Amino acid sequence: MIQEILPAKLNNTYHDRPASLNDTVMVFRGNSVLYGDTGFPAVSEYGPGKLTYLFSIDDTYYYLGTETEIPGYAYVTLRDIRERTSRHDCFAVMTAHHLEEWYRRHVYCGSCGDKLVHAENERMMYCPQCGAQYFPQISPAVIVGIIDGENMLVSRYNGRTAGYALIAGYTEIGETPEETVHREVMEETGLQVKNLRYYKSQPWGMSGSVLLGYFCELDGDSTIHVDHNELSLAEWKTRQELPDDREKLSLTAEMIQLFKDCGRRVLR
Ligand SMILES: [Zn+2]
Repeated sequence: MIQEILPAKLNNTYHDRPASLNDTVMVFRGNSVLYGDTGFPAVSEYGPGKLTYLFSIDDTYYYLGTETEIPGYAYVTLRDIRERTSRHDCFAVMTAHHLEEWYRRHVYCGSCGDKLVHAENERMMYCPQCGAQYFPQISPAVIVGIIDGENMLVSRYNGRTAGYALIAGYTEIGETPEETVHREVMEETGLQVKNLRYYKSQPWGMSGSVLLGYFCELDGDSTIHVDHNELSLAEWKTRQELPDDREKLSLTAEMIQLFKDCGRRVLR
């Protein structure tokens, strides 16, 4: 999966580290990032613009830059970049994107409207006027592999033309992730499930979330009532019909592959 970059290791501790010319800069424009034949630009190519320290992976240090143009680099969507980079770079850019969104949305205080200031020794924005503190936000969400014998329920979000997803959704305030599983499955498919088994988690910077993967079993009627506000399709597929995972990046794809390979044993 995307976060599996061993023996390399992400160190996301914030410190007010001055940038060196060889350090790496992530420059975003919406859901696109500046990328070239040799990867992400270096500080020396970026020039004198503002830089915010993000994190390191081993001895590579990553900074957030502000939107600009650099000769030899073009904006590539985060979806396309998954096919062009190593898993290491892919994890770096997704994590940087998560932080970039948080920084972009924390310029002014939500309580009093004053300009926020970055804390010196930790990743926190605070308001010198009213004292409010803002820490990076991570939204928990579930991914659900629903199993009925030799079949698994796959879905596709509106607007997508290929590939399969699993039922997924954010945990609401006051809800456990297990309750999210039951609620999202009911909302999106009209199905009931039982025998929930937690599988694995995954940080997913695209949506600013940490994903919690569950397998579970159909409980009762298998007739699907698709919520077309969210999904273009939801249908049962046999193990043989499920696609093979080529990217090996997402928890969704790993869960589909695991059921394809192991069948109902995933529930044990
Ligand atoms: Zn304030």
